[in-house]
Amino acid sequence: MVGSAFADKITVACDTSFPPFEFKDPETGKHTGFDVELWDAIAKKIGADYTLQPMDFNGIIPGLQSNQVDVGIAGMTIKPARSKVVDFSDPYYNAGLLILVKDGENSIKDIKDLKGKIVATKLGTTSADFVKANSGAKEVKLFPNSDAMFMELMAGGADAVMFDSPVIGDYARKASKGQVKVVGPLYQGQSYGIAFPKGSKLVTKVNTALKDLRDSGEYRTLYIKWFGSEP
Ligand code: GLN
Repeated sequence: MVGSAFADKITVACDTSFPPFEFKDPETGKHTGFDVELWDAIAKKIGADYTLQPMDFNGIIPGLQSNQVDVGIAGMTIKPARSKVVDFSDPYYNAGLLILVKDGENSIKDIKDLKGKIVATKLGTTSADFVKANSGAKEVKLFPNSDAMFMELMAGGADAVMFDSPVIGDYARKASKGQVKVVGPLYQGQSYGIAFPKGSKLVTKVNTALKDLRDSGEYRTLYIKWFGSEP
């Protein structure tokens, strides 16, 4: 049978790089992070055997729509246009968007100042839509993964990156001191959900597991481990 929708072992897509939710651990070569461990805890609860399949974010919704993958956990923002084509779990993380610039960049203080600038972000994301609609940027450079997007800023090919707040925060914390800085407020509050093909029987089970993990404190433990703060 093509695809895995009816196989015993389910296929779970995550993003290739969306730290600290999912990223390749340089030591083990395996993907890890909040999403990866949260899914593993859910899978144990619902008794699901699965294979993790990292892919470019932009491929996850098409993969779900064609039943090539059974679950997508990728810091994916719940939004009406997506809810028309996939089903979402209950929200499991609240985020927003932030602007990141190089430390020496003093002409950009908030979104107004992106007017006429070159902004890097990721293909197929809420940030890409938001930047195009609200920034007046001269050019929006879209990258398939987060690493390439940050690299563009560091290499001087973009004046700013606008992207999901927890990923910008993680990058800024890990960058060497004096390399980058976050400017402006948090934009466009949003919630992440786990995505499934329309009508998937997994949705209710996963929501129950999510609730159980919140009640038992396991969700909180994972949250503190990966974000360093209380949920
Ligand atoms: N939260 C953003 C979105 O859903 C970005 C997700 C990602 O890059 N993995 O569009």
